[in-house]
Amino acid sequence: MNILAIGAHPDDIETSCGGTLAKYAKAGHKVFTATATNGNVGSSTLSMEEIAAIRKEEARRAAAHIGAEYICLDYDDEMFFEDKTARLDFINLVRYCKADVILTHNPHDYNPDHELTSKIINDIAVMIPVEKIKTKAPAYDKIPIIVYFEPVNGLGFVPTEYVDITDTIDIKRAMCREHKSQISWMQDNYKDTMTGKDFFEDYDIIAKYRGIQCGVPYAEGFRMANDAFRVIPYRILP
Ligand SMILES: [Zn+2]
Repeated sequence: MNILAIGAHPDDIETSCGGTLAKYAKAGHKVFTATATNGNVGSSTLSMEEIAAIRKEEARRAAAHIGAEYICLDYDDEMFFEDKTARLDFINLVRYCKADVILTHNPHDYNPDHELTSKIINDIAVMIPVEKIKTKAPAYDKIPIIVYFEPVNGLGFVPTEYVDITDTIDIKRAMCREHKSQISWMQDNYKDTMTGKDFFEDYDIIAKYRGIQCGVPYAEGFRMANDAFRVIPYRILP
């Protein structure tokens, strides 16, 4: 299968479903990672152009751990809005990846870029095979299956699907740690809660917590997008 994980920002994917993507890759599936934005507000010292270039390179390196191709749609961080161009960009991306499965944000999350990325993916799923909707990548005859990963810090999210990532947690950690720029950014920008803290450690705790729920050392939790034309009677996660 072809698997596309799309998040709003560089580091969303690795923290939320990096272990699962590593499992898909190990099993021989083709994996793509993508971000809607380039993360260009994620620094208190560098210019927007400089931090965007760094963050895209960090995302590319993270993807390389599992042999995945990284694609950035290059929208502005925190200023991502839906219009016809954005919809067509998303359709083109999914068609380029010939995605069978798409992993993306939960419809309800803390950040508007996250929620809009999720919304557009769910909106366009049925448009992928529609030939009259023209994009650079051609239409293909499939409505991709959509899986939601958990919102940041797992708030209000009860998984219905679990993936045992015990054998890929080290790969997930390595993928997360490619996003070096974000450790100092989080400390600079959220001084009251983040000073001296390596926020990637939080994702180990979440993986342990989801692991407790399903009886393994480490797990990632998901929910299926159960909307018309993408409900399946079998399991698609590894
Ligand atoms: Zn994000």
